Amino acid sequence: MLRWFGAAFLVLLLVLCLRASTLDSMQPEIAPVAVVEVDSGGLLERFRGGLKIPTVSRQPGEGMDTEAFQAFRAYLAQHYPRVHDRLELELISRHSLLFRWPGGEPSLPGTVLLAHQDVVPVDTGSEGDWDHPPYEAVVADGYIWGRGSLDDKFGLFSILEAVEGLIADGFHPRRTLYLAFGHDEEVGGGDGAVQIARLFAERGWTIALVVDEGGAIADGMVPGLDAPVAIVGVAEKGYMSALLEVDGMGGHSSAPPNQSAIGILASAIVKLEDNRFPMRFDGATRAFFERGIGPESSFGMRVIYGNLWLFEPLVLAMLDRSPMMAAMVRTTTAPTIFHAGLKENVLPARAQATVNFRLLPGEKGDEVLEEVRRIISDERITVSMAGRAREASPSSRIDSRAWATLAETIREVFPEAIVAPYLLLGGTDSRYFRDLCDCVYRFLPIELEPDGLRRAHGTNERIPVAGLVDGARFYRRLIENADQATLDSDESQ
Ligand SMILES: [Zn+2]
Repeated sequence: MLRWFGAAFLVLLLVLCLRASTLDSMQPEIAPVAVVEVDSGGLLERFRGGLKIPTVSRQPGEGMDTEAFQAFRAYLAQHYPRVHDRLELELISRHSLLFRWPGGEPSLPGTVLLAHQDVVPVDTGSEGDWDHPPYEAVVADGYIWGRGSLDDKFGLFSILEAVEGLIADGFHPRRTLYLAFGHDEEVGGGDGAVQIARLFAERGWTIALVVDEGGAIADGMVPGLDAPVAIVGVAEKGYMSALLEVDGMGGHSSAPPNQSAIGILASAIVKLEDNRFPMRFDGATRAFFERGIGPESSFGMRVIYGNLWLFEPLVLAMLDRSPMMAAMVRTTTAPTIFHAGLKENVLPARAQATVNFRLLPGEKGDEVLEEVRRIISDERITVSMAGRAREASPSSRIDSRAWATLAETIREVFPEAIVAPYLLLGGTDSRYFRDLCDCVYRFLPIELEPDGLRRAHGTNERIPVAGLVDGARFYRRLIENADQATLDSDESQ
């Protein structure tokens, strides 16, 4: 019996090691690119000037700072004269910019680079918490500080620098190049990216590759992995908010019922937090471990990532310890608004709460809502959808020539980085292009600090000065590489 057990154990060990050693690396072998000349001093000043123009996005109905966007557009025209001279420029919904550089082979599907002009507002009252004022583009401690420095003026200016440089050097694209700079990404992209994508469909403009913000070079993201990881978003989570309401419970606080409207609603919220949605380990997140970082990890970790059939529960338990990682494997539950009561001696007649859910790919808003009702199981509470649900975007291909071209370009400019697909937790303009192309990727060529995401929409947004040159080099090589490569959709044209 013991011998049988010992033999079975040995076989298992053998299988584990075998699978660990056959994990296939998806990292392209590529030489770092010879230096691309970038005018780093001029670039810094052009970028700083752009940060000083507060192109703030406001919620629909709050009015728009038209002058800021006009000033920003004039600023771009002044500082990128070649781009404005050589490329066709079309204004979409008055403020979004669509540049088109017709390629020498018009039948080839184009390359689309996305970025957005708008930035989120600085929270009222938080201005004083900034180490440097948000719209002065101060250079200090090796960083450029300011709202929009990371999200997303870094991307926008890096793209323009790259194209301006290519024109100056006499480059002529084979493939048509499109630059689409929306003006309302931070409030959903309805007037910008949505309309631009619609134009592509109407005009029959075909696309081989789309690159937008939404990934970065992340350091120290994965325990046990020293190399920086270039995380490339290949899908985006969906979005749905539920409104929970309790009605008709008012009265004097001197004779309260056993359970008040506030109590009923609070216990519903507790139930939701205690019964989170189940974890699911598939799609982009599974590919991140199995194909992305797995093959590049230490042997011990390769045994785990190469044998997810056995170790999946272990990996999920590990992911569950970090809110960021856990969000990649489950539909998340986030109570965000709670309204009840006006006066200290009056029981509120109504209590309302909003709970925001971020949906895993494949999950539908009304199914999640149904599950919410089941978890709460309290007929005193009305559960409805607040606004409309948005399903997750389907995953882009990672077996494509377009993916390989992007991965090679990343490795040319960041030779140390491990390129890995991942599931984006937020939303970007690029989701509207997914129907037009199955090679839509989200990546910014910048090393992200561990708290970079918090800074991006919070206080003290900044980027390292040294990152600006990498940004311009990256887009330049990306445009050249995509132009020269034979991409997946070329043959079908
Ligand atoms: Zn953004």
